[in-house]
Amino acid sequence: MQYGLLGEKLGHSFSPEIHNQLGNYPYQLFEIHPEDLSSFLQSKTFAGMNVTIPYKKTVIPYCHHLTPEAEMLQAVNTIVRNPDGTLTGHNTDYFGFSSMVERAKLSLSGKKALVLGSGGASNTVCAVLRQQNANVIVVSRTGENNYSNLQQHSDAKLIVNTTPVGMYPYNGQSPIDLTVFPHLECVMDLIYNPLKTKLLIDADALGIPAYNGLWMLVAQAKESAEWFTGTQIDISYIPEIYQKLLKKSQNIILIGMPGCGKTTVAKILAEKTGRGIVDTDQLIEEKTGCSIPDIFSSDGENYFRRLETEVICEFGKRNSIIMSTGGGCVTQRENLDLLRQNGTVIWIKRDLSLLETKGRPLSENGKLQQMYTQREPLYHLFADLSVDNNYSPEETAEQIIKKLKLDVII
Ligand code: NAP
Repeated sequence: MQYGLLGEKLGHSFSPEIHNQLGNYPYQLFEIHPEDLSSFLQSKTFAGMNVTIPYKKTVIPYCHHLTPEAEMLQAVNTIVRNPDGTLTGHNTDYFGFSSMVERAKLSLSGKKALVLGSGGASNTVCAVLRQQNANVIVVSRTGENNYSNLQQHSDAKLIVNTTPVGMYPYNGQSPIDLTVFPHLECVMDLIYNPLKTKLLIDADALGIPAYNGLWMLVAQAKESAEWFTGTQIDISYIPEIYQKLLKKSQNIILIGMPGCGKTTVAKILAEKTGRGIVDTDQLIEEKTGCSIPDIFSSDGENYFRRLETEVICEFGKRNSIIMSTGGGCVTQRENLDLLRQNGTVIWIKRDLSLLETKGRPLSENGKLQQMYTQREPLYHLFADLSVDNNYSPEETAEQIIKKLKLDVII
């Protein structure tokens, strides 16, 4: 008997990895076309199934029983086969979002909460927030409260995004402008790819506590696994699995002056952690068929910076990679959000006297000190943390592994 995730298009999913850590049962992805759904659900081949877009409602008629949450929300995200062969439909997203609210330690009673979007996840979020006596306002493109009259809700204390706006591959978009809401205590986004949507990056910049949907995903899976196995799973599994996934999927981005050793440190990190490696200068050379000095001399720095941002835009959307950047990428403010959405940014520091200058157009001619003076505040702005690389690159890589508590394969 099988367990798994049922949906129409699944792409990469965290669910198999989460369930492998929650219990000892085989868990697979089932991409089923709408015309095959009925026979799949009646096939009696599965013992338990998670359900995702677009089938959370469609599966209801196939369930012989619904739990109170599934009944209330008219949505099923977990189906469990009973000993007599009948199916029970559960909604563990309710527990998943409740857990996310609990994690944020919010006291919601009487406070205005804006819920963006009016689909399935919105119903779940609204039910949890109402249960905690929040004053819930649903913002819908076509509703009474819509994106053109949000000013009337500038007293909102919480915003929860349940729309797909900003989700991969449409990274960088936000459904709203947060500066309209000066009293916000928290912003939540159910999206977890990217780890930080534009909405959450904006919240960070305004100093508002911000949470992505990865915790909810893990929490709902924990409750599903309990229904699958009939055993209680300790609550501590939620933070443990959440941290593991976060650590594993985050990119590691190296910034720093030209010639400070980013490429060498990146290679060592990639070897030790088994992650893919991306070097933005190398990608630009491959893309254009020209060397970096040639691009600078023929088309100028501005043209090079545009190419660099394009590359960062494309690769910043990826997960689990080590990215070595060009020394001047910090001069473009837009690169900050592109790098941060899935990454921890590390500043590789090296004494100016030790920097390699050969073949680096902006470092030659003794201009390093001037360049450093200009860029130092930008490295500070971009970096989540810094490491010295004045000795061996192996030691520097070790420091990074230690600071980020990365898993190593060699
Ligand atoms: P859904 O039923 O399709 O609802 C999404 C809603 O978003 C729509 O009803 C629509 O509301 C609004 N919307 C859609 N496109 C929009 C656009 N371009 N601009 C503005 N609003 C738009 O989907 P869902 O099942 O509720 O899922 C929504 C999101 O939550 C997805 O990103 C999903 O991955 C995520 N989710 C995460 C978890 C988790 O565990 N973290 C669980 C469930 C869902 P209006 O028409 O009213 O504007």
